[in-house]
Amino acid sequence: MGPDKSPSPDGVSCRFLQENWNVLGPDLVVQVRNIFETAMVPEKWLCCNVVLIPKNKEPLTPNDYRPLSIGNVIYRLVMKVLANRLRPYIQKIVSMEQTAFISGRCITDSIMLVKEILHSFNSSRFSQQTFMLKADITKAFDKMDWNFLKEAMINLNVPGKIIDLMLYSFRHAKITIKVNGMGDGFIHPTRGLRQGCPMSPYCFIMAMEMLTRKLRHAQVMGQIRGIKLAQSCPLLTHVIYADDLILLGNVDGAEVQQLSNIMEEFGNVSGLVINPAKSKLWFSKCCTEQAIQTVQDNLRADPAGHEERYLGALLSSSNNAKKTGNMLLERLKSKLAGWRSNLLSHAGRLVLIKSVLMSVPVYFMSIEVLPKGIIKQMESLIAKFFWGKSDQNRYMSFVAWAKICKDFNMGGLGVRQLELFGDALFMKLVWDMMSNSNKMWVKVCKSKYYSNLGFWRANNVAGASPLWRQAVRMRGFFKESVRWQLAKGDSVTVLSQPWYQQWEPVTYATRRDRQKTVSQLFDFGANMWHREEVIRLLGEQTHNYIAQNVQKPVSVPGLTDKLIWDQTKFGNYTVKAGYECLVKTTYPHSIEVPWKYIWDWKNLAPKVRIFVWRLLSNGLPLAQNLHHRIQAISPICSRCRQENEYATHCFFFCQGFRMVWFGGNLGIRTENLPLNIVEAVQYITYGMQEDDIRTFCYTLWEIWLARNASLFQHIDFDPRTVCNKVQAWLCTEAQQDREESTPRHNALQVPYDFHHEEWQVIVDASWDTSHTAGTAYLIYQGGKLIKLGMEKHTTDDPFQAEALAIDEAIDGFQQLLRDENYFRVHVFSDCLNLVNVLEDGCIENVPSWRARPLIAKIISNISRLGEKLKVQHGSRDAVKPAHDMANHARRHGVSYHEIPTVSLMREMRIDMRLDTKFFQQVQERPP
Ligand SMILES: [Zn+2]
Repeated sequence: MGPDKSPSPDGVSCRFLQENWNVLGPDLVVQVRNIFETAMVPEKWLCCNVVLIPKNKEPLTPNDYRPLSIGNVIYRLVMKVLANRLRPYIQKIVSMEQTAFISGRCITDSIMLVKEILHSFNSSRFSQQTFMLKADITKAFDKMDWNFLKEAMINLNVPGKIIDLMLYSFRHAKITIKVNGMGDGFIHPTRGLRQGCPMSPYCFIMAMEMLTRKLRHAQVMGQIRGIKLAQSCPLLTHVIYADDLILLGNVDGAEVQQLSNIMEEFGNVSGLVINPAKSKLWFSKCCTEQAIQTVQDNLRADPAGHEERYLGALLSSSNNAKKTGNMLLERLKSKLAGWRSNLLSHAGRLVLIKSVLMSVPVYFMSIEVLPKGIIKQMESLIAKFFWGKSDQNRYMSFVAWAKICKDFNMGGLGVRQLELFGDALFMKLVWDMMSNSNKMWVKVCKSKYYSNLGFWRANNVAGASPLWRQAVRMRGFFKESVRWQLAKGDSVTVLSQPWYQQWEPVTYATRRDRQKTVSQLFDFGANMWHREEVIRLLGEQTHNYIAQNVQKPVSVPGLTDKLIWDQTKFGNYTVKAGYECLVKTTYPHSIEVPWKYIWDWKNLAPKVRIFVWRLLSNGLPLAQNLHHRIQAISPICSRCRQENEYATHCFFFCQGFRMVWFGGNLGIRTENLPLNIVEAVQYITYGMQEDDIRTFCYTLWEIWLARNASLFQHIDFDPRTVCNKVQAWLCTEAQQDREESTPRHNALQVPYDFHHEEWQVIVDASWDTSHTAGTAYLIYQGGKLIKLGMEKHTTDDPFQAEALAIDEAIDGFQQLLRDENYFRVHVFSDCLNLVNVLEDGCIENVPSWRARPLIAKIISNISRLGEKLKVQHGSRDAVKPAHDMANHARRHGVSYHEIPTVSLMREMRIDMRLDTKFFQQVQERPP
């Protein structure tokens, strides 16, 4: 919980509790437990302040204020605990039609679905008379009926204690409205959810789930039919995002009447009533005038205009992308109008660009592919701001925008290139289609465009939606890098889904062959491929390739087939990684300057760093640079009038500056420097220590300031002042360094008694970028070392190496423990991520796709051993002996799994004693 976010009505903030946890914590825990046990909350914790935030500059009526309620910190804490407990289950109980507040579902899912529906409506091939109603539910959150919510939660099998607690807190809530900082009396609400309570979103979607069930029931009973966009398309009756409800139906008197009855009934019991005046209707192209009229009369709603939006997305029949783009341009302009770029340093402008300006288009770019021309205009607005003079039309950019957009390592400033970023966002949708996700819009798209031929073979058809046309254009991006990692192989079709590296979609095949899955090609009993069948389907050459190179299907419980994008560790597509990939392919690697090395120069103030970047990119307004752009400006250095003012002249050769370099701390002679600035800087900094590089950069910066002062303010240049200023920079920074590295307290070491039947195992892995890994484990009984193991491996992935270490450790102690009955083994690894995954037991959370099969094996081992084995997180110090051994194994390629011998231990010179301090802490920690 955020420490300073909305304090309680009694003034207590989260920070207060967090910082005084030692004193207050134990009591608070007792109180919170008590609340969960009794399902009652002390009344003063249910008090809630409502403050009014004006929506405009001159609020006149209550409608001009936005009420914001601030609940008690402890109450929010209780609700947060509940919400966290409920989170994993909520996606199982709430249907796919709802896309809000559930992890793994998002707002674009609803938008894409609605867009595909309307695309079908507008197509002349779509022959059903159907309608879509965007229903506006009036004040949905505030009107929720509590008894209805209770019924809904009972229906969804939410535990009774939680229901009682929620209902209790609703019924006993008291609200004070603060006006001018004063509150007067209490209001007792009788309906509605609590704003700002972490449980409210879940309560709301659980109540809405009742509507889904009602509609589904009506569909089963044949009262409503729902609509189908294509033959294999699932029946659609509605789409929900929180309280944004879309209803779908056939234009037929009886069905419309039924739908309207259902909504009325739902409104009566839940309090969630549709406001017809604000609702809008769409109709498919083939609807007759008369049918349209009937629906309008029945539902009392108007047809939608061209500017109608759904969750921000435009729903007009054409040109959505262009209209959205123009709106974004206007938004950028209005943001920029309020900023004076000349008052900010370049570093400051860069921060604003990255954190504010770039975030303006992101949401819309994830739902629309914007026209290139508009993206160019947006970029030029942003570039204008970066180079200053935002109020004039002309601006001078000294470094091309494309270069600024490059990564730091390639000489740019890491600003996002909007067009590529838009593609990366869109590719997320392509990924959803490829991975066969069970999202509703994916099913609809599949039925409309690729149910027969499969995603990779289906082509553009006339009249396809923009979504599918873009997907066909962009799927090639994934061609080389995507394939299915086989578990059993029963969800992967042989001919239409990529599952080995050189896979190509097959053009002709019978329907039966098309439906064959990979598991049908594999004999699990004999653990080999069905040779004849593979050859028949794919040819002999491919069979040989598969037999040699493809990992065989395995049947491990919990492990499922998974589409892998091999550019990320997790194996999933992410927008960030996709963008990086696109940048790499669009701008091939070119390193002119050791840029990475420049950004690694630590402890430079941001403005100085950007200044150095501009200098090396030739992006400073020097006379010669200006002359290139405007002929009338003379290229001659106006300080010495001896030479053109190019970068090396300005910083190293010009009058008086040589003295600064030679007289300063570094004692640099500048007579024989190369003329090119990049070469000159490289020449000087070659082999320099970090501290000296820092001095060097600050000297450049101070010279630049001195040059500007003498040019524009006619302040005489004095080398000593420049040197002193550089000294001042270095002193303040040295001070900061010291403050950051204050030594930690060392706790006293207390000896610790190990229990004899307790076994401790410490494991670790070591990995280097040449893909070599070492793994090691040490097994102790009652604190005494009884076995150790180490191994060298080749792997691309440090996470996999950590998992290998645990796997080997489990094998290692199982051999020892064959005869023992009673034992408890604690395995300690310092890889927190891995420990968490093993604790969850959920393979889907493995942050590395390469390690999935191995992790599945470890998890099944752990569950088999049950209480006897526990994998825990250990500090780096605690696993240090394993760490040292893993290093040893990696470097020397040792393979060893035995009782340790004295000579081996002597040879490795590793201290193998257990860190007793750590184990004592583990013991003291409450379970
Ligand atoms: Zn000069």
